[in-house]
Amino acid sequence: MIMLQLDNIYSGYGKSVVLKDISIKVDKGEVIGLLGANGAGKTTLLKTIVGLLKPYSGKIIFNSVEITKLPPHKIARLGISLVPEGRKILPQLTVEENLLLGTFVGNENFESTLELIYNLFPILRERKKQIGSSLSGGEQQMLAIGRALMTNPKLLLLDEPSLGLSPKLVDEVFKLISKLKDEFSTTILIAEQNTKKTIDISTRLYFLKTGSIVLQGKKEDIEKSDLIKEVYLG
Ligand code: ATP
Repeated sequence: MIMLQLDNIYSGYGKSVVLKDISIKVDKGEVIGLLGANGAGKTTLLKTIVGLLKPYSGKIIFNSVEITKLPPHKIARLGISLVPEGRKILPQLTVEENLLLGTFVGNENFESTLELIYNLFPILRERKKQIGSSLSGGEQQMLAIGRALMTNPKLLLLDEPSLGLSPKLVDEVFKLISKLKDEFSTTILIAEQNTKKTIDISTRLYFLKTGSIVLQGKKEDIEKSDLIKEVYLG
């Protein structure tokens, strides 16, 4: 079942066109990897999906509803949640206050969701009264993901979750993403520069280069492709 579909999307900032003719599809239950170097347009694509940028042309459909022109809060209410690059937690609020902020789009069962998130991230339960800025980088990333999960999203968008983390924490973040897929059946679109680890956890992948998709396919095909072998895995 198709959950998200982008048809021929052109998007960018004012006169600067970044995304050119992007068409992608995300089926329910998939983990889709979106790979590309710095400046390839990954963040621009995620911002366009959640309505922070309005595409110049093209269509975005989510669970059979056209969302191309909807404002961000309406798109969030339909069930798409973005964990932005650089985490962006509120440093002066406690861990639990940060998590509760995630319910601003509405979640009637927020207490059980909070419990679920504390079970998923025991460290956040331990630190729930601590202010956000006192957490380590990895813990802040967990908090940012936990906050996005507070809305019970149907689709979770992750923008470079491994950025700035130590190798050990990078492993933890990728393990967590696999767990979300396996145990919670969350559908995920993950933008990353960590090619190898993203291929490992994804069902299908898209490669962006200067705003266009230059390669796409199932994990098995991507692993075998010459482009990946040469350019990305060295
Ligand atoms: P990174 O890994 O560095 O975040 P990315 O693949 O997410 O890269 P984007 O952030 O989407 O790339 O950037 C794509 C292009 O859009 C870049 O050329 C960038 O300079 C440009 N860009 C990003 N934000 C803006 C903005 N606010 N105004 C104008 N151009 C922008």
